[in-house]
Amino acid sequence: MVPTVDSTAPALVTSSAPPSAQPSPAADGPVIVIDPGHSPSIASTDPTTGLNDSDYENEPEMRDVFSVAVLVQSKLQADGYRVVMTKNTAADRVSLGQRAAVANNAHAALALSIHDQAGANGGIAFNTGNNIVYYQSVGGYRDTSAGRRITFTNGAVAAFSKSCAEVFQSTRATLEGHTVSLQGDTGYDLGSRGLPAGNMWMVQLLSQVPWVYNEAGGNSAGTVGLNTGDQQRYAGALAASVEKCVPTTR
Ligand SMILES: [Zn+2]
Repeated sequence: MVPTVDSTAPALVTSSAPPSAQPSPAADGPVIVIDPGHSPSIASTDPTTGLNDSDYENEPEMRDVFSVAVLVQSKLQADGYRVVMTKNTAADRVSLGQRAAVANNAHAALALSIHDQAGANGGIAFNTGNNIVYYQSVGGYRDTSAGRRITFTNGAVAAFSKSCAEVFQSTRATLEGHTVSLQGDTGYDLGSRGLPAGNMWMVQLLSQVPWVYNEAGGNSAGTVGLNTGDQQRYAGALAASVEKCVPTTR
């Protein structure tokens, strides 16, 4: 059907835009999925694998890492990336499987999770510990409550995830100004925390795209949670890491 022209509609005015105006979010830039950690409590089972993909609230981490994610989003969009967030607000209730599905459906070039360890008890200072970058490894697994083991098998995704994680490790260490370690699995059985048994973060296991999972210390000096300066440091390092690992063509 041929569309009709509504002659009463105002003409589009384009002459006022300066030639150097920022383009709107790129139509062709790489797709990056940003996953701010945690959700208000949600009980969920992933329909494909049967894994328990529930999530839980953790404050002030949940709100702090959402703020960090928004900073990363702004930087990447300004530099020509198409960014998809797994949450639109800090309080969005999203299961771990839904987060992985966002990245899978977007065919993301890279997904990154953002976490930290904040709190009055059990919190870790931003400058002194818990700064870890995790990549996907073939053989990583989680178990269903029925005892079925779901194992990560995609060698190409694992290889790219590892090469990106190495970039994140070195870039974060430089820009955040502290030691950052690199791990191909969680380093312990998550079943010991009452989570589904296994050694791989659920979002990374359920993802079909490369996924880098970031942890950090969550308490800025003298405070519970991350202050604005440390949020900006964490975000700047994550954005710079993405730009090295998945460069834009422009
Ligand atoms: Zn977390």
